[in-house]
Amino acid sequence: MPLQSTPRPAAVMTALLLLPLVMASTPAFALPTIDSNAVHHAAIQARSVHLDAPARVRLADSFHALVSIPGGSRAEHAIRDECRLRLAALGARDIPIADSLSNAPVNLAMRLDGIGALSNHPALLLNAHLDTLVVSTPQHLAFDPATGDFFHDLEAERSEISSFGGDDRSGLVVVLEALRHLHLRKPSHPAPRTPILVLLTGSEEIGLVGAKHLARHHPRLFEGIGLSITIDGPLDYETAYPSERLVAVVSESDAQHQPYAGILRLLAAHASAAKVGWSRSEVGLGKGDFAAFPAHVRPGLHFRSPVRGWHRRERVQVQDLVHHVDLLIDVIQRWPEATAR
Ligand SMILES: [Zn+2]
Repeated sequence: MPLQSTPRPAAVMTALLLLPLVMASTPAFALPTIDSNAVHHAAIQARSVHLDAPARVRLADSFHALVSIPGGSRAEHAIRDECRLRLAALGARDIPIADSLSNAPVNLAMRLDGIGALSNHPALLLNAHLDTLVVSTPQHLAFDPATGDFFHDLEAERSEISSFGGDDRSGLVVVLEALRHLHLRKPSHPAPRTPILVLLTGSEEIGLVGAKHLARHHPRLFEGIGLSITIDGPLDYETAYPSERLVAVVSESDAQHQPYAGILRLLAAHASAAKVGWSRSEVGLGKGDFAAFPAHVRPGLHFRSPVRGWHRRERVQVQDLVHHVDLLIDVIQRWPEATAR
């Protein structure tokens, strides 16, 4: 529904009835105390080919909010519910995946209809994982105004775990904010777009449990998908940062063929326009949810998340969040043309 339209009385009543539910499900976790002014300053200073300053500030605030919600493997209910609310606000519909298995992992599947001439095109699957390492400590989140980095305030102490949950909350926020940008732009004349299936998975860190569960027990979810893009890892991989900020992980052989060759060309064109360095790697192949997805959804290429460092010494720069959202916006808009034969 366009933002300007007047809600119908029935919709207002439904919203009022749902309000207590929404309020009850909004997690009441205290945000780590970091200087929001410094975060906003970094966002305003960041370069973007798609996001204006308010959208960049919103992106940085969204990352701060999502990374502040604890949610290690098998404890993703709060972050799952928050993502569901944010996607529903963009018009996404929940796909029921509840099952009777008492130990079923926490997952979220939501679908956005296609728009215009691309309404009946195969869908794009967007994936990130909901869980962090169980040992992550988001209460230690800090922000470095000099570098524009979110970091862990115990990163200098080698004996301490220094993951605050940037893996994969940065992937989640990239997916959510790219979709938000497209939702808000020209609401009365939206650009044609393929349908989108957002699959946010639980228990990735303990063996791709959520993704394997969906592939095995909910195979119909994967019908009609033309391409799958995950935003995650590889963490144990050093790039020539900051001259390489965007990384596509794909095998040498897949890189020569569609749809991956087209996505790599799209990445190169995007990077040139955005004046950001990129690279390609095979490090991380087979180590993420995409490895559990069926081959017919074309899960052979994924983008490294904005996290630098390892499961220790995580760092996420505001500028890199912006670069990744910019890239995903282009992928969502251009993949049908880029991957056409
Ligand atoms: Zn990850």
